[in-house]
Amino acid sequence: MRFTENFSLREFRCRCGCGIEREHVEDLRETAEMCQRARDLIGWPLIVRTGVRCDEYNRQCGGAKRSQHLPSQGARAADLVLMDGEGKPTLEEFWVILQANRDAIGFNGAGYYKRPPSDPRPSFIHIDRRPGRYAEWGNGRPAMRRG
Ligand SMILES: [Zn+2]
Repeated sequence: MRFTENFSLREFRCRCGCGIEREHVEDLRETAEMCQRARDLIGWPLIVRTGVRCDEYNRQCGGAKRSQHLPSQGARAADLVLMDGEGKPTLEEFWVILQANRDAIGFNGAGYYKRPPSDPRPSFIHIDRRPGRYAEWGNGRPAMRRG
């Protein structure tokens, strides 16, 4: 099921294979629309590393108890990896573009996960559409001043 020009339901599926994403299509469509706005602004392909996570899989992978990836929280989060390729923006550049366009993209939580080269896991940025107060975290994230 295609949600937007560059994102489909499959990319947001729970990685344990439980199929729970099919019960949260409308929430995930809104999350995909947020990701599409980010993708359009950065002008570079983004890979969804994590979309929705069922409770059990969230426990297995050590996710926060009230993770925004959970259906009970509205499946509002995506962890985004920059696709490899010549001219790939850095994670820092991605962060800065996101932050400069927070309102236009429509995220209200952001986490910066830069891995050292020795770490086989990819670096990624988490964004989510949580209600309420803006939340931001991550070691080494570029400092931003909002005007
Ligand atoms: Zn699952």
